Amino acid sequence: MKSTAHAFKSKATLALRNTNLQKALTRTKSHFIDKRRATVDALPEFDALRQRGREIKEHTLAHLDFYLEYFEKQVNANGGQVHWADTPQTASEQIVSICKAAKAQYVTKGKSMISEEIAVNNALEKAGLNVVETDLGEYIIQLAKEPPSHIIAPAVHKTRDNVSDLFYNHHQKLGFTQRQTEIPTLVNEARQVLRDKFLSADVGITGANFLIAETGSTVIVTNEGNGDLTNTLPRVHIVVASIEKVVPTLEDVTTLLRLLARSATGQEITSYTTFSTGPRRSEDLDGPDEFHVVLVDNGRSEMLGNEFHEMLRCIRCGACLNHCPVYGSVGGHAYGWVYPGPMGSVLTPLMVGLKEAGSLPNASTLCGRCEDVCPMHIPLPKLLRHHRVKEYEAKLSPARGRWALKLWAFFAKRPRLYHRVAALKIRLLSKLGYRQGSFRRLPFASNWTATRDMPAPQGETFMEAWKKAKSPPH
Ligand code: SF4
Repeated sequence: MKSTAHAFKSKATLALRNTNLQKALTRTKSHFIDKRRATVDALPEFDALRQRGREIKEHTLAHLDFYLEYFEKQVNANGGQVHWADTPQTASEQIVSICKAAKAQYVTKGKSMISEEIAVNNALEKAGLNVVETDLGEYIIQLAKEPPSHIIAPAVHKTRDNVSDLFYNHHQKLGFTQRQTEIPTLVNEARQVLRDKFLSADVGITGANFLIAETGSTVIVTNEGNGDLTNTLPRVHIVVASIEKVVPTLEDVTTLLRLLARSATGQEITSYTTFSTGPRRSEDLDGPDEFHVVLVDNGRSEMLGNEFHEMLRCIRCGACLNHCPVYGSVGGHAYGWVYPGPMGSVLTPLMVGLKEAGSLPNASTLCGRCEDVCPMHIPLPKLLRHHRVKEYEAKLSPARGRWALKLWAFFAKRPRLYHRVAALKIRLLSKLGYRQGSFRRLPFASNWTATRDMPAPQGETFMEAWKKAKSPPH
């Protein structure tokens, strides 16, 4: 997927004015936040699980080369094949060549963010293959020719009306001549359209929530069962996954699954948790003839041990998106690439470059909710600040902002002078704003006051008020 992350500001402005999007975004609270809260509250050992999950991921990352090779060995032993890809291009080429070797025409796909990252649909379509997304949300945005706007709910920005229109426009030629408006009938219509696709697919492509080194298995969690039809019915199953998805044992995966479902959708467990271990064996009733795993690096091994290392613990639950006030206001498309919200604002600059995506780490209030809810204890605000420092050092941020920071740093390093100047400024603003009680515009803060008024200060600084409150009454 081509990045438009540089255009965050203009896209965010449009998103805030888009009433349809704003309506769709209000569902995030009841769909994700409240449900997560309820299931987390019902599990007293949730914090202990988080700690264990973090330890599992850190242990694996510290021995990543070992566990990846172990995984490959086990996949081979099961009759499958692992393909290593440093770059998105290599990964897409490998997938296309597996499809060509299988003389495939039709490809079904389960939801996979890494497949968006490597833009595999474009590569497959360029090679003349027919690709159909089978996750309902992915299917909706494929019809709309849009990228996903959320990592677990790709069509969260669409209202029911939008989906009715889309299905009506695209399915008429398939014999569905009525415009359906109820969710069950819309789902049923998609199911009927997709059934033929499942049955005629030569290759099924899925992602992986986890890779298990000790068994050579890949794991996906879904709520629709489309993943199972994608990996069981076609002759060839290709799993595409990034390298940090590997964990040592089956038992480790069960710990992480308990964290993932609760943090993502507020479920104790998703409707389907599917383990794929190699191609069909002689005693199996179904399954693919070939099983391939494409392991994608795309800059992840460079993150190992550097200041962004902790981001590699991410299990893509989406909780940080759901709880982010910025994501909740502008939705996912404003972020301009595959991964939106706080986790995306950390990952995107690492993958498409800070020059392109430098506005994303600044699109955060640093309120800390994302870190609070992250099941992997990833310090997202700290990682966003690392990007801001790099942006400042590389002189990529606007010169005016850099000068303002330099000026602030000058005073911040001299606390007595800082307090004196602050007190002087507060008194001046208090006098100037005394009548109206607030400022509609302030010099040097025009962006801030463009959308809000600033209340006039009361006439003393916080420190002065604090001292007064602490001193004993006479
Ligand atoms: S950063 Fe944390 S909360 Fe956000 S998607 Fe990753 S694991 Fe989930």
